[in-house]
Amino acid sequence: MQLRTKHLLGIRDLIPEDIQLILDTARQFKEVLQRPIKKVPSLRDITVVNLFYENSTRTRISFELAEKRLSADTINFSASGSSVSKGETLLDTVNNILSMKVDMVVMRHSATGAPHFLAQHIPAAIINAGDGINEHPTQALLDALSIIEKLGQLKGKKIAIIGDIMHSRVALSNIYLLSKMGAEITLAGPPTLIPRHIQEAFGVNVTYNIKEALEWCDVANVLRIQLERQNQVLFSSLREYNQTYGVKKSLLDNLTKQILIMHPGPINRGVELDSDVADSGHSIILDQVENGVAVRMAVLYLLSGRREANA
Ligand code: ASP
Repeated sequence: MQLRTKHLLGIRDLIPEDIQLILDTARQFKEVLQRPIKKVPSLRDITVVNLFYENSTRTRISFELAEKRLSADTINFSASGSSVSKGETLLDTVNNILSMKVDMVVMRHSATGAPHFLAQHIPAAIINAGDGINEHPTQALLDALSIIEKLGQLKGKKIAIIGDIMHSRVALSNIYLLSKMGAEITLAGPPTLIPRHIQEAFGVNVTYNIKEALEWCDVANVLRIQLERQNQVLFSSLREYNQTYGVKKSLLDNLTKQILIMHPGPINRGVELDSDVADSGHSIILDQVENGVAVRMAVLYLLSGRREANA
């Protein structure tokens, strides 16, 4: 089995069989990560450049670790401190890096479509590690793996995505993935942070009432308020946001069933998610981080063109 795509630009381009293949492969790599020796030679002689034009903690470390676990050679590039500040174009930077014989590019960029642009111009396999407000496909894949581990499957499960849907690439990638895999989705948050026609466009439910979303769902994926992407006032204050839309322990205590709480990180504690929920038994936030490495190993391996699994 192999992926139908040469790059991972977004979940939008994947068919359910591709998603399933990545998740199955990730599960095999997760077993490798439980072993005393966590390294396999699958990507030996493959060179990967991690091209980060925007800040990142988890995603960057997770990709680097995944590459090292697969024995790839890696180069790390961050825009700050590079010739980008001297005015070099994206394509020039990348072509210069590629002339040093790089096989794969992991890219994060604040502009929507930056990895798609690169994919049209360079021969390397491109993995989107987050482009503007568009997609963050490996996040949705690791979210899916984390849900399946706890609930057995995605099909028929009720997932609430809560918060700043408008500016979140995590939301869009999750909406594509969950609907392709047969889960039910409710988007919840302030009306100003939920795009107006999203309900009809994606066949999802929308509510502006967090309590209602929490009562309905099996899993609540709580999103960070993306203050850096908002150029107008979309809610009155962080304190008021927390009062009306924050996920709080008192709300969970009143539910008749146990639900799972997810967050892609970084958490704004006390804004979209209270600490006593983030650190509670409901939370699978650290499982998400752990699964990120296995999912990224799977994506790198499947896109590398290496068929002989050493996992
Ligand atoms: N880390 C995720 C991203 O890069 C989520 C977030 O920043 O809120 O999109």
